[in-house]
This record gives sequence, structure tokens and C-alpha cells, in this order.
Amino acid sequence: MYQVQSKEVNCRVCGKSVLENAYHCPHCSVGAPGIQSRCPKCKSENYVYHKYGYAFMRALLATCICGPLGPIFGFVGYNRTECICLSCNQGWFPYQKDELLGPFNTFVGEEGKMSRKFKKIPASISAQL
Ligand SMILES: [Zn+2]
Ligand SMILES: [Zn+2]
Repeated sequence: MYQVQSKEVNCRVCGKSVLENAYHCPHCSVGAPGIQSRCPKCKSENYVYHKYGYAFMRALLATCICGPLGPIFGFVGYNRTECICLSCNQGWFPYQKDELLGPFNTFVGEEGKMSRKFKKIPASISAQL
């Protein structure tokens, strides 16, 4: 499968060319310049993103309940893009284009699916601010 890692898009704030997967715009330093979304809670457009990793706790829990197949559940949502609002720390998964066309699109807003509330911005992201 061919994957474009360095596709250039226009920054959602300043409109200058940035890498789609950039964490911050090199021109105006806004977070997640390649993701067009907004906070589902406070509608803020001041957010960053990170990659949602393997869910170890969920895999462990699922292993207790489902047996040896449990670890598979840890991969649900693996490597998804998760946005985090800098105003209220709410996390969410921005919708991909194909999800918008799915059968449940009556339930989705343009913001995406709320995931969890962050106590603080993960260190991996704040280090890049
Ligand atoms: Zn910018
Ligand atoms: Zn918010």
C-alpha cells in the first residue's frame, strides 16, 4: 500500500503550505494545521493532534473477558488521529471523508466523535509547542 507521508496542504489558519501530518504550522504555529475540525464541546478551533496508540489497558481487559483473542481489541482505534482542544482539553477523533459517507452520518457533526477529556496535553505534544 502506498502511503503519502509528506503531502502538502494549506494551513487551516494562515493558508500557507504545510505538511499534512505536521503537528504545528511553521508559519503561524497553529496546532494540527492540516486537520479541518473543531472542538465538539466548546467549538474552539485551537487544537493539536496526536496519534492514538495501542490501547494496552483495553487489550488487557479484553483478554480477561474474551480470552486469547483479547489483544486484538487493543488495536481498535490504533494509530487513529486524535485531536485535543487547547481550550477545554476535550479529545476527539476528526472524521475521515469515508466516515462522513457512512450509514451513521445522521449522528455525526462536522466536529467528529468525542473521545475523552484530557487532564493535560500529553507531553509528546506540549514538547513541540
Ligand atoms: Zn499557518
Ligand atoms: Zn474545547
